[in-house]
Amino acid sequence: MINKIVMLPGDGIGAEVIYAAKEVLEAIAKKFDRQFEFSVHDIGGIAIDRHGTPLPTETVEACKKADAVLLGAVGGPKWDNNPSDLRPERGLLGIRKALDLYANLRPVKGFEKLLHASPLRQDIIQGSDLLIVRELTGGLYFGTPSERRNNGEDVVDTLAYSRKEIERIVDKAFQSAQLRKKHLTSVDKANVLESSKLWREIVEEKKVQYPDVTVEHVLVDACAMKLITNPTDFDVIVTENMFGDILSDEASVLTGSLGMLPSASLAEDGVGLYEPAHGSAPDIAGQGIANPIAMILSAAMMLRYSFEMNEEARAIEKAVEDVLNEGYHTKDLKSHDGTLVNTNEMTALITKAI
Ligand code: ATP
Ligand code: MG
Repeated sequence: MINKIVMLPGDGIGAEVIYAAKEVLEAIAKKFDRQFEFSVHDIGGIAIDRHGTPLPTETVEACKKADAVLLGAVGGPKWDNNPSDLRPERGLLGIRKALDLYANLRPVKGFEKLLHASPLRQDIIQGSDLLIVRELTGGLYFGTPSERRNNGEDVVDTLAYSRKEIERIVDKAFQSAQLRKKHLTSVDKANVLESSKLWREIVEEKKVQYPDVTVEHVLVDACAMKLITNPTDFDVIVTENMFGDILSDEASVLTGSLGMLPSASLAEDGVGLYEPAHGSAPDIAGQGIANPIAMILSAAMMLRYSFEMNEEARAIEKAVEDVLNEGYHTKDLKSHDGTLVNTNEMTALITKAI
């Protein structure tokens, strides 16, 4: 069986790290006798330059036909002054919507060897290993334009959710918790927001279906604090779109670098999209020094979630950990000892470890 993978390199370091992930997948194919077929398509700024749109129809069609999608990153200063429909980020929001990627899974795991790279106290972050399940297609970021008024005086953003939208993300979170430490933290602002009250009700209804999972409700402001004071208390966190966006950037501090964090965006039974949590990092683009690990770990998530290749996914994760333990690090990991390597060297080390 051939697994068809669409690669969307995008802009900046996205286009650098995605080929690192491809090399690693090729090593996996060789070791485990798997067949991956890659095709490359445009999204973001490069798609604006080449096709006049951040999300060409051809790209959407290719993604819909694929078994999984790998995405680098989109955006950069070149397009910062573009009108809103010609922004690279539109490509990303558009493909999430087109593939109905409602669940964004962001594992945050501190590697022992990188404890020093976080500004937080080592004794606090040691052993942190959590998964943020963020709702990705509703909430504030998708308030329809007609609901958004701006006459220069008043402005409105709409936070809307349907019961179905909340139920499916809550189910995904419970199922994820069952595969981990069986503890779910539902994050909301139910003391103020109507949408959060329904969210909390649905979590309470759903929990009877998952009796093996313990559940707690935490307000988003308290959660923001606990994430950096007691990160090891968490297993799975489930929350709406914007809360999840903010909390996952905050949680990245536990790992020392954005360059370490993978993510998976999943549809109900369609194709999954896998991308690093970081952006296109224009400040270091073109220098060949980006940390490819977030992208490589995203490819591991693809193997696990889209292809059910658990052993292969673990082989990648183990190779990453081994290489880090040997003291190799990219510039963002701010190590005092060991060996500083660039993107290609890090990729070659991980490939060799596999
Ligand atoms: P976006 O708006 O797309 O989320 P951002 O503004 O959050 O982007 P990033 O592009 O993620 O920003 O970069 C934030 C900082 O982290 C930059 O200084 C960047 O160089 C650094 N960074 C991000 N990813 C990596 C990586 N893979 N390797 C090294 N440094 C990185
Ligand atoms: Mg960001």
